Amino acid sequence: MNYSELVKLALEAREMAYAPYSNWKVGAALLTSAGDVYKGCNVENSGFTATNCAERTAIFKAVSEGVYDFKAIAIVGGDANEGVKGYCPPCGVCRQVMSEFCHPDDFIIIYGKSETEYKIFNLREIMPEAVYIVSDEGEGFKAKD
Ligand SMILES: [Zn+2]
Repeated sequence: MNYSELVKLALEAREMAYAPYSNWKVGAALLTSAGDVYKGCNVENSGFTATNCAERTAIFKAVSEGVYDFKAIAIVGGDANEGVKGYCPPCGVCRQVMSEFCHPDDFIIIYGKSETEYKIFNLREIMPEAVYIVSDEGEGFKAKD
């Protein structure tokens, strides 16, 4: 699974977005260390705080099935009518959730516009001061057991 393929899956996930309030559809594709992919989309709610982002949807789907080892996530977003025109970085809440489960140096975040146009970061670059659980495995990720 290369980054381009992961962006393609994020674009597919975006089609499932439930975004009647913002009209902003986001898709995410989360690659596990085992090579599986969990897709997520944003799911809005008329009580706005009940809304869930695409990234957290994908991560929570995996965690709810006992999967915690992640390599990368591709994220795409854009207006429902105009499509994906620019990059869609994750919000602060999603960055904190990534920090709970993902290694700050090894986990890759891909901001995608298309299968050929994307930017790559690691988690430490986009979330340098996360709230961490300190574990025997070092700072950062670690929540299973
Ligand atoms: Zn978010």
